[in-house]
Amino acid sequence: MKKITIAIDGFSSTGKSTLAKQIANQLGYIYVDTGAMYRAVTYFAMQHNFISETHLDTEELIKNLSDITLQFRFNETLGFAEMYLNNENIELAIRTIEVSRMVSKIAEISEVRAKLVEQQQQMGQNKGIVMDGRDIGTIVFPDADLKLFMTASPQTKAQRRFEELIEKGQKVTFEEVLQNVHERFVILLQT
Ligand code: C5P
Repeated sequence: MKKITIAIDGFSSTGKSTLAKQIANQLGYIYVDTGAMYRAVTYFAMQHNFISETHLDTEELIKNLSDITLQFRFNETLGFAEMYLNNENIELAIRTIEVSRMVSKIAEISEVRAKLVEQQQQMGQNKGIVMDGRDIGTIVFPDADLKLFMTASPQTKAQRRFEELIEKGQKVTFEEVLQNVHERFVILLQT
């Protein structure tokens, strides 16, 4: 059967990756969580002190972008591909509230976007791929065969994110997560 490209766009924590994983499993397609790639660059920037709650050294991060090698490696037990940064499994490390708080700042940097978009387009060359992220249907695969867009209320988003974090053993309150969702929404409106 002819393979297609499926682009799932939408806001954060609306269930994009859950749906994308299910579609990929059902069709035997490759699933690419592009949010994980932005989180990985954020994690790299945190490790090298290019970003903290109070500062961002965009220039240094850009200079060091070539030191970032990102890979998805399929985990048979979990049934999905985990994110690796320079051969280190960072799947759990990129899901913390700290990374969530800083990722939008990193995702604003055009050099970071250019690097990740190029890599995403390469991964989709042979079709048979499901990719999620807010620019997938517009920038990464404007000619995708199927485009879906997902949204949800702030409460629903916060509830999804809260459950994910609790499941991963993070100590957060629902109110903190809801606040984070609102902050990210404000950033989105400003850009
Ligand atoms: O989907 P997830 O919450 O993991 O995405 C983390 C962040 O990465 C988003 O809030 C957004 O700032 C950024 N992102 C992006 N473009 C994408 C995917 C994610 O800017 N394609």
